[in-house]
Amino acid sequence: MISEEEARSRILQDIRPLPPRRVSLKCALNCFAAEDHFARLPLPGFDNSAMDGYAVVASSCGPGKRLRVVGTQPAGVDRQLRVSSGEAVRIFTGAPLPAGADAVIMQEDVTRDGDEIVSNVDVDPGAYIRKRGCDLSEGQRIVAAGERIRAVTSALLASQGVADVMVGGEASAGIISTGDELAKPGEKLQAGQIYESNSVLLEALLSRCGVIERSVEQCPDDPGALIAAFRQGVQHHVLLINGGVSVGEHDFVKSAMQSLGGEIDIWRVAIKPGKPFLYGRIGKCVVFGLPGNPVSAFVTFLQFVRPAILKMMGASGDELQLQTVLARLTVDLRNDGDRTHYVRGKLRNGSFTPVGRQESHALFGLSQSNALLRLAPGAEIKYDTAVDVEIWD
Ligand code: AMP
Ligand code: MG
Repeated sequence: MISEEEARSRILQDIRPLPPRRVSLKCALNCFAAEDHFARLPLPGFDNSAMDGYAVVASSCGPGKRLRVVGTQPAGVDRQLRVSSGEAVRIFTGAPLPAGADAVIMQEDVTRDGDEIVSNVDVDPGAYIRKRGCDLSEGQRIVAAGERIRAVTSALLASQGVADVMVGGEASAGIISTGDELAKPGEKLQAGQIYESNSVLLEALLSRCGVIERSVEQCPDDPGALIAAFRQGVQHHVLLINGGVSVGEHDFVKSAMQSLGGEIDIWRVAIKPGKPFLYGRIGKCVVFGLPGNPVSAFVTFLQFVRPAILKMMGASGDELQLQTVLARLTVDLRNDGDRTHYVRGKLRNGSFTPVGRQESHALFGLSQSNALLRLAPGAEIKYDTAVDVEIWD
């Protein structure tokens, strides 16, 4: 049995990113940038007005001062106007600042009187002017390779005139749920059967990782059926085989993989829940064997499968990790075992409280939680300690 840190680092070392592809900016949302991007244009691109008002020389304004309106500068064209002391140019938000102007006075702060305005206020130099490059300088890095393209990132790229970008490749994934006891939701349940629920969970988690191409198969505990399901499944980049990775007489996943010439790199990890987790390959297909207990499948997906798939799709650095939040623990916790325990709990108003039965079958308990606390072997954490919790919701 290896530690969960070692398992994760061995998996991540083994995973290679898929070849990148060029997509439109609209399709790039939530993909990972395949290259760095640097600002081609400063933001703003030119000095412009932050308000509808009048471009002026600040020193010639003040309560009761009259200024002559010498022109109009709308947004969208540069009329190359000039302003001198005692003059004003009617200007609109986003319009280029006329030469000579060092401030804009808001239209609410003047009284218009024919060809003149009367200033009602003092004006500071620089008022309501957006200076070229004050937000972003030319050449500054705006997106790093491996970074997720968020709504705001794509807006920033669009502001640079970027229409399409190189992003990481698209991973496809298959799910095979194994077990003689599994009935499909909608079917009539026979004595001793349970409804198959893990494929729904795993599909949802894959979808969250941005995996669009997915297939789901259900398979009895039968070596021949399992081998046939594997043959189909290995057409994907990633195959999640769920259940049958433990040590019982009906756990055929390992033998099925071996008979197809697959390699098993990892089997059994010091993680609770999720000890029977398996990682290997059949040909080019990366195979994850997830334990059948729903909470084990969930935890091992988040800790091992998610970072691997994100790396395949071009993510790197912090993007591979779940977001963590600092929270106060509302109970005492200790881990006397030899496996890292992922405690399921509720993060609310900065506090973390374990919820439900902390057992690998307890799906209802899991459904009430929204965060995980990692408790290393031997760890003891007292009530009210600030802890990092991982959030997925
Ligand atoms: P296994 O890993 O095959 O030994 O299964 C462990 C436990 O998880 C058993 O109680 C199974 O009935 C249950 N289980 C296995 N697969 C699923 C599934 N797809 N959906 C819900 N429960 C499952
Ligand atoms: Mg089983």
